[in-house]
Amino acid sequence: MSLRISWSRGIWLPVQWRLDKNQRGVALTIDDAPMPDTTPMLLDLLEHHRATASFFLSGCRVAAHPGLAAEIHARGHAIYAHGWDHIRLDQAGPERLRADMARCEALLAEIRPTPKPYLIRLPYNGGWRNRMVHRTLAEWQPGCRIVHWSAPTEDHLIAPRCVTPADVEHECTAQADRLLADPALPGSIVLMHDQPINERPGAEFKPAVTVTLMRQLLEGFERTGLHTVPITGPDHQPFWSRFAMVW
Ligand SMILES: [Zn+2]
Repeated sequence: MSLRISWSRGIWLPVQWRLDKNQRGVALTIDDAPMPDTTPMLLDLLEHHRATASFFLSGCRVAAHPGLAAEIHARGHAIYAHGWDHIRLDQAGPERLRADMARCEALLAEIRPTPKPYLIRLPYNGGWRNRMVHRTLAEWQPGCRIVHWSAPTEDHLIAPRCVTPADVEHECTAQADRLLADPALPGSIVLMHDQPINERPGAEFKPAVTVTLMRQLLEGFERTGLHTVPITGPDHQPFWSRFAMVW
């Protein structure tokens, strides 16, 4: 893997890919929630396996199901804003970016105090190396950091591959096994979705894929002795990294 560097005049926020060096657990992150036909089952699975997750919620879905967002928090999981609409906010301009994040967080702030430092995941991760995005987010939530991932489940590609309901179990098993076999999994940030927001085919399989993959991952973590942890990161950002983002 080659390292690349993006330069700025001191405006880069921290971008986190993995957990702290000494952390052997995995941070499970779930984007695009909540959805009434899957979120309650995800919460039951997490509870059953004594697991914790960080949810990056889509404001448009929270507005439709505010009780579900409150339940995620009440059952011990972290909740952060993933924008209001699921669009490329980096292409929508600074006003829209800020408004979308703020509108979503305003709903979440009715459920819990706004966390400090704030963790941000942009829809489609759009603009994670964009100077306007970093400047706008820093003004909106000083001290925030962008949370990337090191272990993508690529679950958004599973439903489009399914033709019959039987394919779901098979495809999810293959995907979970691939992830669990990765020696770099301890210390990683895992990305999955609660019914990914996209226009891909196979939409009818999304609920089953979401729940099946979560079950397979949690069973796999247990089998391999991995425990889930909240997203922990560096306490402070090295000064140089405001100028040079290494990725
Ligand atoms: Zn998303």
